[in-house]
Amino acid sequence: MPRPLSATIHLDSMQHNLARARACAPHARIWAVVKANAYGHGLERAMRGFAGADGLALIELENAVRLREAGWSRPVLLLEGFFDPSDVPLLAEHNINSAVHNIEQVKMLEYTQLYRPIDVHLKMNTGMNRLGFRPDEYAAAYQRLRAIPGVRNITHMTHFANADELEHPRLTIAEQVRRFQFGAGDLAGERSLSNSGGVLHQAELGDSLANDWVRPGVMLYGGTPGGRSALDYGLRPTMTLRSEIIGIQQIEAGDTVGYGSRFEASGPMTVGVVACGYADGYPRHAPHGTPVVVDGVRTTLVGRVSMDMMTVDLTPIRNARIGSKVLLWGDGLPIDEVAHSAGTIGYELMCALAGRVRVLEG
Ligand code: PLP
Repeated sequence: MPRPLSATIHLDSMQHNLARARACAPHARIWAVVKANAYGHGLERAMRGFAGADGLALIELENAVRLREAGWSRPVLLLEGFFDPSDVPLLAEHNINSAVHNIEQVKMLEYTQLYRPIDVHLKMNTGMNRLGFRPDEYAAAYQRLRAIPGVRNITHMTHFANADELEHPRLTIAEQVRRFQFGAGDLAGERSLSNSGGVLHQAELGDSLANDWVRPGVMLYGGTPGGRSALDYGLRPTMTLRSEIIGIQQIEAGDTVGYGSRFEASGPMTVGVVACGYADGYPRHAPHGTPVVVDGVRTTLVGRVSMDMMTVDLTPIRNARIGSKVLLWGDGLPIDEVAHSAGTIGYELMCALAGRVRVLEG
């Protein structure tokens, strides 16, 4: 028997969340973002779950080629672009659309003789200050790209820093859109702005976000970029992490649990040992009080998470036993709630799912 720990990926919920994104941004085509092994869900699996997407966006060229080899025939986009001149012919060979965000990439395209045209996303830095050309240098970069015979379509792209908050005190979506419009003006080409936050706020922001393409990631996996719960947006969890109780200890007031003896019982209690630890991707920093569900009843983590195990309070669970079912996140316990308790975000938990965790579909 394998260790009783598994992550179930819900392909039907992936389809459902994609439909929610379409409902929020009905006039846009959707790049389903599948970077980081599809936020931990598996690239080929995501290709099936998001079969209805207009394109798939990710980071590594080798994974883009993997999608092509697995039979994905619609557009593929490299969000960070390429890193070496030898990558450029591969873009053309596999019909991969690439972000272009620095002048070195423009030069690589200028120096490469392309036998098939490629499409690119020219990226503008509108305040995130990560990748892209500044608004005042953007048109010049565009003109240089436009002059390259092998470059076919140029899509204008930027990325929001605070799309989860409409009224961010430092940098609002509206301000980034304003800078984008200043930089891209009426240059020919389609436009791609919104990540999940932008898609979820499309209704409030209206026409300024009604662009040709949107690029949702986390919402397609049933998470939110912040603030409200995914359930409020009608999103469904796509990854459920489950385990079982593999040990039970009865302890008394004053007894402590786990490494560092950080948790001390204030009275008699039952502690359950769960087969899941930080080497499986569960956050080591999750404190006492982080929610878990045992046999359908909510309880909490106690003591430090160790490499392969964690300990939970079984006192409120009637008839808890070795083999009791433990839900760590997913359908019945929002991943964002667990992440919030651990001081992180749902994205990180999904992406950190370890390779040794058995993955099921259902
Ligand atoms: N677009 C770009 C350029 C990104 O880097 C990301 C992820 O960080 C996304 C879209 C998707 O973001 P989210 O998962 O917040 O929807």
